[in-house]
Amino acid sequence: MDLYSGHINKLIDELAALPGIGSKSAQRLAFHLINMPQEKVKHLAEVMIEARENVRYCKECFTLTDRELCPVCANENRNHKLIMVVENTRDLAAYEKTGRYDGVYHVLHGAISPMLGIGPGDIRLKELMARLQDDVEEVIIATNSSLEGETTAMYLAKLIKPTGIKVTRIASGVPVGGDLEYIDEVTLLRALEGRVEL
Ligand code: ZN
Repeated sequence: MDLYSGHINKLIDELAALPGIGSKSAQRLAFHLINMPQEKVKHLAEVMIEARENVRYCKECFTLTDRELCPVCANENRNHKLIMVVENTRDLAAYEKTGRYDGVYHVLHGAISPMLGIGPGDIRLKELMARLQDDVEEVIIATNSSLEGETTAMYLAKLIKPTGIKVTRIASGVPVGGDLEYIDEVTLLRALEGRVEL
């Protein structure tokens, strides 16, 4: 027997399908939405649709952006010969928040995971290799210290080394399995400054 109306059940199901939202949170959110003024709910839905329609990948680094080039890639004062490879846009944001990195980025949108069936072809590796045809001095691999992140780092190092470009890995000290975005700025900077050549 359905405890709630069909519409509410449908809403709860959709919300519960989002990452990090369990069934309890989904119920809380659903009831919150139902109690919101209709105009506000409409606005929220519009913002979601607009974001989905207008956000795209930067044609250089593949981070999510509203323009053809993201603000970092479009900035001529950044060092375009220094590329930091991160797993996702949130990791990029974490490093940007430190305000101390002046290079550019490359966002892979994932990491290699044989267990999940994610191979090198499923992340933006080809695009990174294409960028290395340009004048690049160093690639800093800043994937997470999870098994997937390390696998990706090793794979990348093997791929890049023959090009003669310097490849470095951010220092450990980033907690194992820790998502970069949750790590404080001091730890991030220490990891960056203590990077070692692979
Ligand atoms: Zn970019």
